[in-house]
Amino acid sequence: MHSYTLIAPAKINLYLEIIGDRPDHYHELAMILQSIDLADEIELRSLNTDRIRLHCDHPQVPSDESNIAYQAAELMMRKFPNTFAKYGGVEISITKRIPVAAGLAGGSTNAAAVLVGINLLWKLGLTQSELEELGATLGSDVPFCVAGGTAIATGRGEQLSPLPSLNSIYIVLGKYKSLEVSTPWAYKTYRTQFGDSYIRDSDNLAVRASAVHSGEMVKAILHQDVKEIAQKLHNDLEKVVLPAYPQVLELRETFANAGVLGTMMSGSGPSVFALCESQEHAEQVKQQVKTATNNEDLELFVTQAIAHGIQIAS
Ligand code: ATP
Repeated sequence: MHSYTLIAPAKINLYLEIIGDRPDHYHELAMILQSIDLADEIELRSLNTDRIRLHCDHPQVPSDESNIAYQAAELMMRKFPNTFAKYGGVEISITKRIPVAAGLAGGSTNAAAVLVGINLLWKLGLTQSELEELGATLGSDVPFCVAGGTAIATGRGEQLSPLPSLNSIYIVLGKYKSLEVSTPWAYKTYRTQFGDSYIRDSDNLAVRASAVHSGEMVKAILHQDVKEIAQKLHNDLEKVVLPAYPQVLELRETFANAGVLGTMMSGSGPSVFALCESQEHAEQVKQQVKTATNNEDLELFVTQAIAHGIQIAS
């Protein structure tokens, strides 16, 4: 085959705790990540030249080497020069459905799709864990995006422990189109405001990070108890993003007033999600929030938790 089309799902954070400073200047995190069926489509095609050509239908997404999907292709070319010489370059076409700079790992999942796709295109036979390892060099969320499903992520987010999947949960997701939050800004601001409470000793970091394994959110997931999961949603970055972006706070309040099971900002925002009782409930909430906000700039999606990451389109 000379081309593959891949489905690259977004993620939400059911839990995000910033534990401390790491010697490598990243933050030590304890997260619980969940794939959702809101996904981009990535088409990969072999080229007769040794180039990477990238096209994305979203005007805010770059088409050059600053695109993380482009970087994923460069990484594969560097790592496997002989295979690259045999098969040539790649053309990457991205159809964006995941809102950009939204805290939904849109770029990371595109990069994961390129790794999985080139592995197929070049018949490399790399295992999922080898692809995750390559992904970690591109970005902290890339390994999770390869595997997907439900997982605890520790370290800087790249160390994964799978959890039982939660594929019966319905979610409404809201994002103001014109609002973007920079992930580096969110972490930097958190460090400035709350850095004094950080743990800086690496032994303690490991102990503290592992504590999430016995956390109440994990218990709720193991029991498949959606109401309990909704009660235990947590995101430390809300402490800096909500005061700086009143629209995000308002959206979160609008979801809460719509009678959802629980609501939280995803990652560094500004997207906000809400857990619902059923698909019908999610559709109702979406309508209620649309009416209450009455703002064309707000995109709303009904989506479902899924048990997988990158998949080949059927
Ligand atoms: P994360 O949740 O991993 O922090 P995010 O969902 O907040 O990511 P992205 O959608 O990945 O954010 O976009 C962050 C920035 O990266 C944007 O400014 C965008 O222009 C740039 N970018 C580079 N490559 C891509 C890509 N393939 N898709 C989307 N954005 C990309």
